[in-house]
Amino acid sequence: MSVQSDRVPEVYDKVITAEYKALLQKALLKECKRILQEVPPEREYHYWDVYVGFMIGPKTALKIAEEYIDSALASYHATNPSLPADPSLPAHIENECGFLCTAVGLHAVVARVKYHVGDYETSNHSLHLLRTHFAHSAFAPRTPSELLYGRAGLLYALNYTEPLFSSLSDNFTLPSNPVPSAESSHHSHRILRNNDKHPTSEYSSSKIHQIISSIFDATIENGIRTASDAGLSAKTPLIWKWHETFYLGAAHGAAGILTVLLSFPDKVREYRDIIKRAIDFVLFETRGENGNWMSSLDSGKTDLVQFCHGAPGIVFLACKAYEVFKEARYLEIATEAAMFVHDYGILRKGVGLCHGISGNAYVFLILFKITNERKYLEWTVEFMDACLQWEQLTEKRQFRVPDRPWSVWEGLGGAVWLLTDVLFWENEIFKGFPGLSDIQST
Ligand SMILES: [Zn+2]
Repeated sequence: MSVQSDRVPEVYDKVITAEYKALLQKALLKECKRILQEVPPEREYHYWDVYVGFMIGPKTALKIAEEYIDSALASYHATNPSLPADPSLPAHIENECGFLCTAVGLHAVVARVKYHVGDYETSNHSLHLLRTHFAHSAFAPRTPSELLYGRAGLLYALNYTEPLFSSLSDNFTLPSNPVPSAESSHHSHRILRNNDKHPTSEYSSSKIHQIISSIFDATIENGIRTASDAGLSAKTPLIWKWHETFYLGAAHGAAGILTVLLSFPDKVREYRDIIKRAIDFVLFETRGENGNWMSSLDSGKTDLVQFCHGAPGIVFLACKAYEVFKEARYLEIATEAAMFVHDYGILRKGVGLCHGISGNAYVFLILFKITNERKYLEWTVEFMDACLQWEQLTEKRQFRVPDRPWSVWEGLGGAVWLLTDVLFWENEIFKGFPGLSDIQST
């Protein structure tokens, strides 16, 4: 197995030939136009979040994000009047702060897109919300830790926008009120104590790292406490609950949370032992007899093979664990899980990232990036080709129509995201999750 290289491997050009590339570029343009036509950005709609919205991240689809961003922001403000005018005031603390299904993702994308187009004021305002209002939400006792609605999502958003913090000049301080909750974590006080020492200091990149550190600690504490309360500590030192369920997959569960945690090397070193034991539990102890991974510890069900539940989320975690710990057993389990996704992952639920084919195609694209093995790129192409036949397959009723058929995480937007990452993958920064590649800041 060859070692990962930053350069485009030769095999890429052999699989994605010039002729095929031209075809894909044509398809990309066609599908982008289709989304813009079906859901015109100027039309009023209420889908503003990353999950059901149309904001597409990779730089090659930045134009699409630019088209939708103002409409998404307006829709958000129209439906969320309770957000305080001064975001530094914790007048209303929400119990959610995830990347995909809360305003956190919206503001993270707004920050990057607006920075890209030179609207630094709007970009800065969104960054301000992330590090004040939503940073407070992360410490509210009822806030979960998973990716869509919880702390892992905010950690992801802060990591995603982190390069902007040092680029934009801004002077402000954190709010002086602690989170108003009986159970408010001592971590929030830790932030505030730090701030008290430097009440007028510039809000630097290092301060962002303090916030990230505190949210990371809160996520770990939540995992330790949940495992202990459930009597699971002997099996795993960390487990999390969402809606009273011990989910294991990427969307609501431990695989997603742990994948995000692994993006912060300094903090991983601090908690290395328990994080590694928790990863080993998810990867090696929650596999069912049919070869798939359980959706949750509670149900033990192993019938779902999609980003949100089952083997695909396991691949993302195992690949990240391999990247961080460099242990061959992580890559081995990733390849086993990918094999399972290849055998059972042609989904009929549309072409979105969450429980559609494009999300499963990313499993192979990520393994190709790590191994440069031709078969993974061929598998990506195989799944991508199924995505591109979405219209015929939907007409033949082989594909179901998702709830939001044009969106990124449920619909055609996901296939567009995949197309851009396959076409231009050598330039994007691997962030560990489908489609969440970087938007170029310059
Ligand atoms: Zn899903």
